[in-house]
Amino acid sequence: MNQIPTLQSFIAGQWIGSTAANPLASAVNGKLVYHTHAETIDFEQSLDFARRAGQQSLLAMDFQSRAACLRALGKYLIEHKETLYTISTHSGATRADSWIDIEGGAGTLFAYASLGRRELPSGNLIPEDDVIPLGPTGAFAGGHILVPRRGVTVHINAFNFPVWGMLEKFAPNFLAGMPCIVKPGSSTSYVTEAAVRLMQQSGLLPEGSLQLVIGRTGDLLDRLGGQDIVTFTGSAATAAKLRVTPNLVANSVMFNAEADSLNCAILAPDVTPDDAEFDLFVKEVVREMTTKAGQKCTAIRRVLVPADKVDAVTEKLIARLAKTRVGDPAIEGVRMGALASHDQQRDVHHQVEALMTSCERVYGGTADFSPLGEGASNGAFFEPTLLLCRDPDAEGGAHDIEAFGPVSTLMPYRDIDHAIELAARGKGSLVSSVITRSPELAARIVPAIASWHGRVHILDAEAATESTGHGSPLPMLKHGGPGRAGGGEELGGIRAVKHYLQRAAVQGSPTMLTAVTGEYVRGGQTYETEVHPFRRHFEELRIGESLLTHRRTVTEADIVNFGCLSGDHFYMHFDELAARDSQFEQRIAHGYFVLSAAAGLFVSPGVGPVLANYGLDNLRFVNPVGIGDTIQARLTCKRKIDQGKESPKGDPQGVVAWDVQVTNQQGELVASYDILTLVKKQGVGS
Ligand code: NDP
Repeated sequence: MNQIPTLQSFIAGQWIGSTAANPLASAVNGKLVYHTHAETIDFEQSLDFARRAGQQSLLAMDFQSRAACLRALGKYLIEHKETLYTISTHSGATRADSWIDIEGGAGTLFAYASLGRRELPSGNLIPEDDVIPLGPTGAFAGGHILVPRRGVTVHINAFNFPVWGMLEKFAPNFLAGMPCIVKPGSSTSYVTEAAVRLMQQSGLLPEGSLQLVIGRTGDLLDRLGGQDIVTFTGSAATAAKLRVTPNLVANSVMFNAEADSLNCAILAPDVTPDDAEFDLFVKEVVREMTTKAGQKCTAIRRVLVPADKVDAVTEKLIARLAKTRVGDPAIEGVRMGALASHDQQRDVHHQVEALMTSCERVYGGTADFSPLGEGASNGAFFEPTLLLCRDPDAEGGAHDIEAFGPVSTLMPYRDIDHAIELAARGKGSLVSSVITRSPELAARIVPAIASWHGRVHILDAEAATESTGHGSPLPMLKHGGPGRAGGGEELGGIRAVKHYLQRAAVQGSPTMLTAVTGEYVRGGQTYETEVHPFRRHFEELRIGESLLTHRRTVTEADIVNFGCLSGDHFYMHFDELAARDSQFEQRIAHGYFVLSAAAGLFVSPGVGPVLANYGLDNLRFVNPVGIGDTIQARLTCKRKIDQGKESPKGDPQGVVAWDVQVTNQQGELVASYDILTLVKKQGVGS
């Protein structure tokens, strides 16, 4: 007889657990596949390890090197993904379901690696916004900085996405530089355990950056402090309980929740059964009901349909659902697998019974059916179930009860205002889809429901060619919703990284602010040398290194030549009379001429370490430049980012942003911007 393996926690750098505790059964056939472990975890030791070793190793890196590490981890997981696919089958997931979990999880690592590379600086401090002068001369100024919180994050996750659920939180948290302790939902924790083993075996994880808890969290939450963070995904009831843990309240420990949500899809009244959008709507509803057997926090639970189209929608939904093959995902053609556990099967059954007091059954509704596959009758299957609520204005029912399985409820609405009102009856949801052909209707519905939703997905035939679907949270867009959905926020690009950083306002002189932020602040100390800054390699450049150029008087010939060269004969540059009547009362030079002329003033034309100019940020034309005005430029090294990249020719290079101020003969600023360049590193030729 095969020994049933015992899952292990990964605590303080050790895998612990050898004594079997709770049995975990295959969702497909009910056979015992794993045990959780019985050993008690020493959370004092775990937190101490995260705070010492974890923080030290993570802060020895910086945003850029952690981004590179995320990419490497994602690559490693993809190379070893089949191990995870094999284990994931026990959870009842089809290959397509596991793809969302496993490759979607790795994809989130890649997405945050790219975001980090592109949008975060070198070092471990982010100057968040432009510094603002706080006094008349600019000697005292202020702005905001973001730094890694010196604590630990505890991620308590749901059972439905054991890999993605961990990685979508790990990626921004790791990029921010905080160690974390992950506690997955027990019923599928064997998949998370396998993923953490791979990550650890990769040799890429900095020591102490990730720990895994199999089983309960014991006194972990009671040991957290003000620098720590808890994130929770799961039921609204558990979220409500954990949120008020006395120690979390006493120490203002940040608590981010993503709880169950009664998401809706609205078929707008303009869509007729002959439109492509009608079929798209039906397809989307069935997809959301059956993907992951409906165990998605984003699944469509409430299907809002114009009253006169309920019959047509019902007919098409039934036809599609009837074609969905349910059973052992190993069988060819099976589209929907099992619920993750028998507990979940019982729970869904119970919730459907509760829904039936206010709804009628249209399709399915039972666990007592014949899923495909040997032994599947012992699995945790549930039939796709469509209900109809004829009185959606009544209290409770499908607006309150979440059956976390392949269950949706049709609701007829009278008009658009009624649909908007019903959407809000979810009391705050993660996502809503609006299916319409009409831009006017979209413009009316979306703003009205947006305050109740974390995300709104508009679907029409044009978007359908590329739509990622109602139920897919994307790394670059916010995931999380108000009210019942937990009130938290996850993902959303760099926003998610900021959840793990502490914001502080900093005030002082520009020189001090430059020193603190590592980014030149206007008015701060500059350094001028005999060497043109464009002749320095990346490592040689100092923040604040500056060049004040020679001057140039702008002539009418400049304006005429530039106009002819560019084809821009706008009246302000060429029509003496119109220009005299304008707010400037004279002909002025093209703004783009001023930019070009400034480049002519500050570049060092010979071959040197500056490899390319790839753009400008923050361009403003502050004052007009008239004929006879004399301009001058100041170029100052503002920011350096080492992304560890090479040019196409193999030269190691870094990004340098230069602050440019163009002034006139009165010393007034006429143009202001940052130019972005790629600068070669030392020891690689010229
Ligand atoms: P729970 O809220 O019970 O559990 C979610 C997570 O919290 C799990 O890791 C669970 O661990 C943990 N947990 C539960 N109680 C405690 C506690 N006292 N202290 C610390 N951790 C705790 O949700 P379930 O996973 O059981 O699912 C129940 C329902 O939640 C579903 O039927 C569905 O309605 C909803 N849900 C919503 C999801 C969403 O993404 N919005 C996802 C999954 C579920 P353990 O597994 O060991 O109990």
